[in-house]
Amino acid sequence: MALPFHLCQPGGGASCGACCGLYNFRDHSRAALARALHRRTDTIRPLPKTAEAFQAAAKSLRRWDKDPMFPPVRLCPLLGFVNEERTQVGCLAHPFVNDGTDLRDCGAYNSNTCQSFECPSFLWLNAPQARLIRAALPDWYRYGLVVTDVEFVRGCVKLLEAAVGGPVDLDALVAHGPALEAVRALFSLKETAPGRPGGAVIFGRFARDDLGEPTPRLVDYDFLGSPAAPEDDVVLCLGYDPRSAAALEEARALVRRHVAAVVEAIPEPAAD
Ligand code: SF4
Ligand code: SF4
Repeated sequence: MALPFHLCQPGGGASCGACCGLYNFRDHSRAALARALHRRTDTIRPLPKTAEAFQAAAKSLRRWDKDPMFPPVRLCPLLGFVNEERTQVGCLAHPFVNDGTDLRDCGAYNSNTCQSFECPSFLWLNAPQARLIRAALPDWYRYGLVVTDVEFVRGCVKLLEAAVGGPVDLDALVAHGPALEAVRALFSLKETAPGRPGGAVIFGRFARDDLGEPTPRLVDYDFLGSPAAPEDDVVLCLGYDPRSAAALEEARALVRRHVAAVVEAIPEPAAD
């Protein structure tokens, strides 16, 4: 099924710049990323719309991008805030924000690559999932974290379906305020979940391998002496790295509580 809107700039307050390296920092907190985006926006927006000016600015801005989460994954210094209110993340070299001049060749890739790239979410998310993420997360920081984590989204939907014993109409959640609010809290755990290892080289499900590339993490059930549970994919996607059975159970309980809150808020089907 085709997606109902472009995932990168879907409107409604959501926007994403993950493949331009938005989150590719050891410190990928909202505050740290906002600082980088403001710095780049302040530098680039006043520039003349020329390749020379953009190349020089990109070179100068790169000196700030020193502590990547995954060093082989590129970071583009031309990603910033593209609206006046600074609530929408996007490409500062795009023709839409430069009076029609395309300056994307000055960034981490080139214009053709930037224009044609689609991340795996384009393939693996379905239309109701995309609509639910957009409606739940009208926010530059959280939307990109979730829309790029298909495993997290599918994991959450799977838990909801297991809890109700059948398919869940995601569009009905979008249309029902209390249910959407509960989904927002569930998805927002990507930012808000407490007790995750601070400073660890972990990004959601991924750790860093010897070459600096992302590598998927697993729960070490033998070490923890704990059997697997249905919440564990979501627990990993949230960035938990439990070192005891109790810590694992605590993270699972958090997920279960949020899933139960969504189930509680699901509207009754209309009577015939
Ligand atoms: S990571 Fe995917 S959704 Fe986000 S900007 Fe890139 S292509 Fe678009
Ligand atoms: S130039 Fe390309 S990589 Fe850089 S911000 Fe723009 S779209 Fe992203």
